[in-house]
Parts: sequence; structure tokens; C-alpha cells
Amino acid sequence: MIQRKISRFGVLFLIFLMPLCAWAQKGEKIQTIVIDAGHGGKDTGALGKITTEKAVNLAVAKKFGNYIKENLPDVKVIYTRSTDKFVELSERAAIANRNNADVFISIHCNSTEGTTTANGAETYVMGESKNEKNLAVAKKENASILLEDNTDAYNNFDPNSTEAYILFSLSQSLYQSQSLDLAGKMQKRFAAKGRHDRGVQQAGFLVLWKTSMPSILVELGFINNIKEEQFLNSEKGQTQMALALYRAFEDYKREFEAENHSGGSKPVASEKPSTPSGSGDTYFAVQFASRDKKVSSTDKAFSGVKEVDVYEYNGAFRYISGHFTSKEAAMKRQTEVRNLGYKDAFVVAFINGERGTIKQAEEALKK
Ligand SMILES: [Zn+2]
Repeated sequence: MIQRKISRFGVLFLIFLMPLCAWAQKGEKIQTIVIDAGHGGKDTGALGKITTEKAVNLAVAKKFGNYIKENLPDVKVIYTRSTDKFVELSERAAIANRNNADVFISIHCNSTEGTTTANGAETYVMGESKNEKNLAVAKKENASILLEDNTDAYNNFDPNSTEAYILFSLSQSLYQSQSLDLAGKMQKRFAAKGRHDRGVQQAGFLVLWKTSMPSILVELGFINNIKEEQFLNSEKGQTQMALALYRAFEDYKREFEAENHSGGSKPVASEKPSTPSGSGDTYFAVQFASRDKKVSSTDKAFSGVKEVDVYEYNGAFRYISGHFTSKEAAMKRQTEVRNLGYKDAFVVAFINGERGTIKQAEEALKK
């Protein structure tokens, strides 16, 4: 029915006034970051000879947040913890979701069984572990839930059972490509600081599982390798790692906003906010392009993309494909559109005709 509507009316415009915008988010501007210092309180994380993982994570997280506050005043920094306290993994993700964060970065230190010579930094995105080493890292980080009083949020997940990790092979993040992009930038900046580059990896981390934004988990270095531990415990080492995190985040933000033509531009005021034709309903679509000038939905440039619709936001026209009441269907379309060459296409959600978060749409559709 919606499809018919679109073909009848051609390109529809949903122009809406954007107030200060808790939700000029996902795909528009990077305005809120949640920085997650891994472990805390009774959960020490990996142990070194002179320090603990939780202490290094917190020190680097705070320095990183301070660089953002000093240099990117348009970004709101939220910490999952700013002191030595225990925070459940599910609560860490919930903090990011509640605050409509645009980016979630979880900071950790690695440790290996047996050998004490492993070294270097690696960055993880949510996914299926491709090897034993990555699975072992995820098992170690997920073991934090064994210290939690109530683990209902994890559906009886056993962090030590290899079989349990099959769960993650089934869940594909909507923000996979953006997470990979951010992770790649992290590794580049770590390498620029002279750290051994262990690359971008994937594994099933509970802390990343339920976040609804680009999310990564950084392993700064090996705390059971005395040389790395000394570096990670030093003022100089912590400053270098925090600077690398900051530079990578800044690179990501700048590129992301340039692609979305929204860097510094003012919201467009229209006389009256309007909703999509006849609906104002709640749905998912795939945003695949952004142009300064209006282009016809039948433009050659869009050939192959089905059900093209457009809305205006922040002075640019955003082109979307499809109208779905399930996130899964929208993800299928995302794959199709990406295969047509729009590699950065991503799922967007409208709630009663207005842009909102994926989570808000899911909740509204459940009702
Ligand atoms: Zn950790």
C-alpha cells in the first residue's frame, strides 16, 4: 500500500523543523559519545604486577574524555563510570542507548594465559570470533557478568561456554560498517603512536551486544607483559593512548559529518513541519545518499534503488529507500542498497513520521 502511495505521488518530502535536537543523531552529526572504562570496583579486570586493568582503563578514559571536552565543545561526553565502581555490562550499553549516543567506546587492556610477551593494541567490533584467540578475549571480558547479582539481561548466557557464542553469529549490527570504520581509524592512530598494530578484530562482547550505535571495544595493550604494563601505567603512556583515541574519534566525526553535509550547517526552517504522505507512521528505511540539491527520485544516479523517498534535513536532501515495519526487513534492503554501490547506506527510523532512533521505533512498533 505504501509502495503504491509512493509511485502515485512520486517523491515525497518530509520537511521538519529540527529543534536543538536530542536526535540530530545517527547519520547526521556526532554529538554524544559514551566512554566506557572497562571493569571497576570489585571487578579488577586483568591483573598486572604493578597495576590493574580497571585503573588503566579509567585513567585513559578520563584523559580521552577531557581531550574531547577541550577540543570538540559540540560533543557531549558521558562516562559509564568516572570512579572506581562496579557497573553491570548491560547497564553500560543501556547508558549509551538512553542517551542516544552516536558512538560507544569501551576501553580495556589485554592479558594472555601462559605467555608474557604478547604486545600491541587491537580494536574489536561486535561479531563472530574468527579464531580461538579472539574468542578467548571475549570470554575474558564477558566474565564480568559472573560478578553481577542479576544476569537476566543476558538470557542465561554462559560467558565460558563456546557454544553460547553462536548467539552472536545470528545478530548482525546495524552499525557494523560504521563500527569497522571507527575501529580502523583507532588502529591507524595507535600505530602512529608506535604501538604494535594487531588489527581490527571481531568477537561477541556482551557490552557491545545491545548498543544501538556504532560501538567498538579497544584493547590498549597487554597488562601481563611488564614492558607494556609499565607503559600503560605511566603518565606518558596513558596520554599517548588517550590522544590516539581522541585523534581517531575526531577523524571519524569529521569524515562522517562531511559525508552528511551537516558540519556546521544550520537546520532549515520551514513554515510548518510535515510528515510523510498520509501517514506520520512509524517505520524503518535505508538512507543511502545525501545531496545539496534536490534530485528527482528517478534520477539516473539512483537507478536500481527501489522505493526512493526523500526528506530534507540540515540543509541537505536525504534519500531513503523502502518503508518497513521490521528492522530485519530494513537490514535486507540495506544489504541490497550497499551492493548497488552505496557502501555507507544505513538504516534510519521514523517515529510518527519524524526521525528517531532505531530503539524508539522498535519500542513504538511493539505497542
Ligand atoms: Zn577488560
